[in-house]
Amino acid sequence: MENQSRIELRSDTFTKPGKHMLEAMMNAPVGDDVFGEDPSVNELEQVCAQMFGYSDALFCPSGTMTNQIAINVHTQPGDELICEEGSHIYYYEGGGIAKNSGCQPKLIKGDRGRISVAQLAELVNPDDVHRPKTSLISLENTCNRGGGSCYELSSLYEIRDFCNQHHLKLHLDGARLMNAIVAKQQEPAEYGAIFHSISLCLSKGLGAPVGSVLMGDKDFIKQARRVRKVFGGGMRQAGFLAAAGLYALQNQVQRLQVDHEHAKQLEATLKTLPWVTSVLPVETNIVIFSMETAQIAQKVLQELRNRNIYVSAMSATQIRMVTHLDVSESMIQQVCAVLADIRI
Ligand SMILES: *Cc1c(COP(=O)(O)O)cnc(C)c1O
Repeated sequence: MENQSRIELRSDTFTKPGKHMLEAMMNAPVGDDVFGEDPSVNELEQVCAQMFGYSDALFCPSGTMTNQIAINVHTQPGDELICEEGSHIYYYEGGGIAKNSGCQPKLIKGDRGRISVAQLAELVNPDDVHRPKTSLISLENTCNRGGGSCYELSSLYEIRDFCNQHHLKLHLDGARLMNAIVAKQQEPAEYGAIFHSISLCLSKGLGAPVGSVLMGDKDFIKQARRVRKVFGGGMRQAGFLAAAGLYALQNQVQRLQVDHEHAKQLEATLKTLPWVTSVLPVETNIVIFSMETAQIAQKVLQELRNRNIYVSAMSATQIRMVTHLDVSESMIQQVCAVLADIRI
């Protein structure tokens, strides 16, 4: 079958720039960003910093890099950071915590990826020569492996208070933070007031082809800029990419709501199917459901693939579907019909 009719639900990273975004990219003024002279990159950094209430921001090639830079700046080798066991920084970044920054993670199991302040008390090491120094807590919002779950602001305030009491830094992997903000009708600056740094992906549901932004105060970003160069992330005429990010932030934020409605439709159908044992509650654009056995999951993957529907295996018995701007209402209806048709 042709690519045209493929329904791509493996990830919101598959989105392709549309006509207007491509025009914005082609018309972007550019310069050498390593010299700080790319006007489009500078504008994107300013827009993001202002939107979230920070004094500065840094455009990077990927969300992995923005997270790894933040960890590197907030910690010293030998330190310990606290994160959730399914968090991207631990689970999907190739051991970068240890490899890039010489730190070790202390893992917590959260509620669909969300950590609560009550879990933290026991985890901060005392000031004792035997123990690694705890220096950072890193959260994720939305939580990918939690099925796109969102934190309540009230629990984030509690965690930030805890960090203040224990002199810890607090980072947010906000790869899909805009999904949470739209779903919960919040303001970006509410997050900027809580975290010492935030990483935001432009290349997920926002629909830009490449890029993530790291935000923080001027001193943090100054250090981050140095680390970005060391990690090989200094780009030259990156304004073509930054322009796509700017376009996305100006035009493609509110439409995330459509993705969330589509995800809800998938959830509703899945809940009616006898071979689905559970669906993680859908809050944003990620749908994760479970089946009894790996054999059933394999069959479902195959049946969907036969109908040109691409989804991903989250584990042997779990499948993930992610909605995004290149998945239309009629595609969602088609997926629901195919799912309802599968006989196990
Ligand atoms: C996608 C993602 C990232 C960053 O991914 P890159 O592919 O490196 O841009 C970070 N955290 C989460 C939760 C993600 O989903």
